[in-house]
Amino acid sequence: MAENTPEPAAALLSSLTVAEDTTATPAATALLSAPATAVVGTPSPPPLQLFNSMTKKKEPFVPRVEGKVGMYVCGVTPYDFSHVGHARAYVAFDVLYRYLKFLGYEVEYVRNFTDIDDKIIKRANQNGETVTSLSSRFIAEFLADVAELQCLPPTHEPRVTEHIDNIIDLIKEIIKNDKAYVVDGDVYFSVDNFPEYLSLSGRILDHNRAGSRVAVDTRKRNPADFALWKAAKEGEPSWESPWGDGRPGWHIECSAMSAHYLGHVFDIHGGGKDLIFPHHENELAQSRAAYPESEVKCWMHNGFINIDDQKMSKSVNNFFTIRDIITLYHPLALRFFLMRTHYKSDANHSDKALEIASDRVYYIYQTLYDCDEVLSLHREENISVPVPAEEQKLVDDHNKAFLESMSDDLRTTDVLDGFMELLKAINGNLNDLKVCRSNNMLL
Ligand SMILES: [Zn+2]
Repeated sequence: MAENTPEPAAALLSSLTVAEDTTATPAATALLSAPATAVVGTPSPPPLQLFNSMTKKKEPFVPRVEGKVGMYVCGVTPYDFSHVGHARAYVAFDVLYRYLKFLGYEVEYVRNFTDIDDKIIKRANQNGETVTSLSSRFIAEFLADVAELQCLPPTHEPRVTEHIDNIIDLIKEIIKNDKAYVVDGDVYFSVDNFPEYLSLSGRILDHNRAGSRVAVDTRKRNPADFALWKAAKEGEPSWESPWGDGRPGWHIECSAMSAHYLGHVFDIHGGGKDLIFPHHENELAQSRAAYPESEVKCWMHNGFINIDDQKMSKSVNNFFTIRDIITLYHPLALRFFLMRTHYKSDANHSDKALEIASDRVYYIYQTLYDCDEVLSLHREENISVPVPAEEQKLVDDHNKAFLESMSDDLRTTDVLDGFMELLKAINGNLNDLKVCRSNNMLL
């Protein structure tokens, strides 16, 4: 644990609101967590437990190297504005990132950009622009959105096109280990040569004939085999490789980039639950086929966003981008709404839910403002008032509850609800102070 672990209430504020070095909430942090000298020892956080999608249970989190965490979260394919489902994932993992840092871990957080892909190529061709111009534009838009949502920047944000050499080296390794084969410039992963395949999703291979739903590619040995490398096609960007010019398949990039930045064994791999199959399953297969020692200690997956209890989908026109929502509501209202549902559950988006979130964020800031006003007088006059035992207990209890909830697989719903209770108590005190002051003025 870090020696200078900040007060839990202050950490909550920063996880809800702004970056850790902010000065935006001095009053609240002061009132909620100070005077520090009066706090007789902040409670120690209970051991962190996280739900591991591989073992399907909550487990104590034990990092590979003491005090350090390597975390990889699958990023976006930047060909359009990001939707609220993306916001759900990146806020969820930002909360985890912040809490790990709060616990004193040195976290290396990698979040990639899939900047070469069928969808990007198609859209760039439709727009009459290059793939790089399209992807760079929407990377910038994505970064603006996540900054609005107060997600801290990851340690590394690699783009696939910057790691083609790593990808080629990895594919060579998989072929060398007889887990992939080359057909006409394409390279396919051979699921039959990798008995562990589908260990993450628990699917059964025979029931998973991905290729059989569409025209079966007869060049594949098994319809479930997937592309590691795709031979160049007319009008598509391509790179030289031992198998001819081409470009990487989707899944191989995350195996290559996670190993490049974090090594073959790392602590946390995250993403939306829709990525469990096929993306993460294929990623795991590739990494272990190339380097059998490869391992992710904890796989974590966030839930979806439903819109008015229906699955969000472009086809039924209930699809919202982050930009759509933050034009109507403060970005922190969206963040609050997302954090109000546990990361593993589906969050139900509705105007009402966002309005409630918006009111609560307003309430937090109004309380901060009022605290600042009251405390500024004390600061000017340098008055030191001991914290009444009752209030101190309230803060201590809140801090303890915060740590218990967060260490129990990030129960942010309980944290935010508890925080509201605390603010209510603070507002009660502020009102008493105001009454007191106006009575004094009358005397
Ligand atoms: Zn990925």
